[in-house]
Amino acid sequence: MPVLFKLLKLVAPNWKAMALATFFSFLTIASNIGLLAVSALLIARAALHPPILYLMPLIVGVRFFGISRAVFRYLERYISHKTTFGILKEIRVWFYSCLEPLAPAALSGYRRGELLSNLVNNVETLKHFYLRVLAPPATALVILMVTSAFLARFEIKLALTFFFFYVLAGIGTPILIKILISGVGQQLVKVTTALNAHLVDCIQGMTELTVFGHKERYEQETRKLGKKLVGLQGHEAGLTGLANTLTGLLANLTLWTFLVLAIPLVEKGELEGIYLAMLVLAAYSGFEAIYPLPLITKNLEESLAAGKNLIQITAIQPQVQENLAYPTCQLQEASLRIEGLSFRYDENEPWVLQNINLELLPGERLAIIGPSGAGKSTLINLLLRFWEYEKGKIYLGGYDLKSLPPELVRSYFSVVSQQTHLFNATVKENLLLAKPTATPEEIIAACQKAHLHDFIETLPRGYETYIGEKGLKLSGGQRQRLAIARALLKDAPFLILDEATNGLDAVTERELWQELAKITGGKTTLIITHRLTGLEKVDKILRLNEKGQIKENGPLSY
Ligand code: ADP
Repeated sequence: MPVLFKLLKLVAPNWKAMALATFFSFLTIASNIGLLAVSALLIARAALHPPILYLMPLIVGVRFFGISRAVFRYLERYISHKTTFGILKEIRVWFYSCLEPLAPAALSGYRRGELLSNLVNNVETLKHFYLRVLAPPATALVILMVTSAFLARFEIKLALTFFFFYVLAGIGTPILIKILISGVGQQLVKVTTALNAHLVDCIQGMTELTVFGHKERYEQETRKLGKKLVGLQGHEAGLTGLANTLTGLLANLTLWTFLVLAIPLVEKGELEGIYLAMLVLAAYSGFEAIYPLPLITKNLEESLAAGKNLIQITAIQPQVQENLAYPTCQLQEASLRIEGLSFRYDENEPWVLQNINLELLPGERLAIIGPSGAGKSTLINLLLRFWEYEKGKIYLGGYDLKSLPPELVRSYFSVVSQQTHLFNATVKENLLLAKPTATPEEIIAACQKAHLHDFIETLPRGYETYIGEKGLKLSGGQRQRLAIARALLKDAPFLILDEATNGLDAVTERELWQELAKITGGKTTLIITHRLTGLEKVDKILRLNEKGQIKENGPLSY
C-alpha cells in the first residue's frame, strides 16, 4: 500500500491533465456509441422512405460522430501520453537524484544492470499506471452511467439489462483474469530486471568471458531468462485474448438479450420499431470501455512491483548523512591532519585501518605505500567522504572533515584513481569534465604535463577525437595519462594519485616522477603506490602493513 500511495503522490500534481484526457476518452467512446446508434436510426428511418429532408439531421449526426470520434481519440492520446511522459521524466529525475548521493558506498551491493533496469525499464513500466490502471475504470464508469441513463429514457428493462451485463463484464472478467494471471506482473518485472542485469554483465565482461571460455554458460543463462520472459509474455497474451473474448461474448449476449426483450415491446407498441436497432447497437458499442479493464490487476501488479523496486533503492540512507546546517567555511590552506583514525566497512568485519595519524602541510607530497589490501584506497574513500568513519578525526585546512559538506570536500580534491572512468566522448569533452570553463591553453598545458599532448597532436582530429566506450580506442597508458591530465586541469588544492602510473611504460613513468614537482605544482599531494619508484620525490611517507596499521610514518629518511 505505501507503494500505491507513493505512486499516486507522484502522479497527483498532474490530475487536471489526467482528468481532461479521461474526459476525451469518454467523448471518444460516446462518439462511437453515437455513430452506431445514429447510423442504425438512419437506416431504420430510411427504410420507411421518408422525404430526404427528414433524414438530414441524422446524416449530419453520422458525419459529426464519425469525425468527432477521430478528433477526440487524437486529443485523448495526445494529452494522456504527453502527461504520462512528463510524469516519467519527473520520476527519472527523482530516482537519479536519490541515487547520486548513494554512490559508491551504499550502491556497492547492487549490480549495474539492476540499477540500469530500474532507471529504464521500471520507470517505463510505470507509464501503465495512469494509462492502463487509473484512466480505464474512470472512463468505463462514466460510460456506464451515461448509457444506462440514455437507455432508461426508452425502456427501464433495457437499461437494467445493460447495467447487469456491463458490470458483469467490467468486474467479473477482471476478477477471473486476476485469479488466472496472479503473480505474472510481478514476475515479469523480476525476470526483465534479471535479464537486463545479466545482459549488462555479459556485455561488460565479454572479453573475459570469451578468454576464459564461459561464453556458452552465459549464453545458456541468457536463453533461460529469455525463455522465461517469453513464457510469461505468452501467458499474458493468452489471458488478454481470453479477456477480450469474454468481454466480446458478454457484449453479444447483451445484444441478444436486448433483441429478446425489445422485439415483444415493439410488437405490443410499447417501443417504436425504428429505435430497436439504435438501442441494441448503442448498448453493444458501450462495451468498448470495458476491453481495457481485465488487465488492470496485472498492470497494477506490474506498476507496484516496478514502483517497489524504485522506492527500495531510493529509501537507502547514504553512507554519509548530509547535515543541512553546515556552517559556511572557506578552506584557507591545503593542510591535512589525521588523528587516531580507525575504520571498518561493517561492524562485523575486521578493521581495515587502525589508529592512523598523519600531518601534511600545504604543498607537501606524501607517499602511502603498503601491500595490496592494506587500506590505502579506503583512506582515500574516507577523505572523499564516500564512507563514514566513527573513530578518529580528519582535519582539512584546520576544519573537521565532518563539518564540511561532502560536495565541497570533493571539490578540494583532484583524483586519479585506478579505475578512472572515461566517457564515450572526445578527448576534449573528457578533459572539460574537470573544468568546463577551461581555455584551450589550459587544456594543452595539462596534457603537456601529463605527457599526452604530443600523442593527441598525432591524431587526425586532435582533441576532437572520439575515444570510444570507456576510452577503449586508447591504450591503457594513454587512458591513464588522460586521467592524469584531467585531474591536473581541475586545479584543486589537493591531488590524489592512486596507483596513477599503472599501465604506463617505464620511460614515461620515470619521466612523470622526475617532473613530479612540476606536475603537482605546489598542491598538497597524496600518492598511493605499491612500487618504490619515484619515492625520492616525496616529502613524507606513510607505510601501512596488511592489517592497516602504520609501519612507518614521517619524513623520508635517505
Ligand atoms: P588497497 O587500496 O590498499 O589495496 P583497499 O583499501 O582497497 O586496499 O582495501 C582494504 C580492505 O578493505 C581489503 O581487505 C578489502 O577487501 C576491503 N574492502 C574494500 N572495499 C570494501 C567494501 N566496499 N566493502 C567491504 N570491504 C571492502
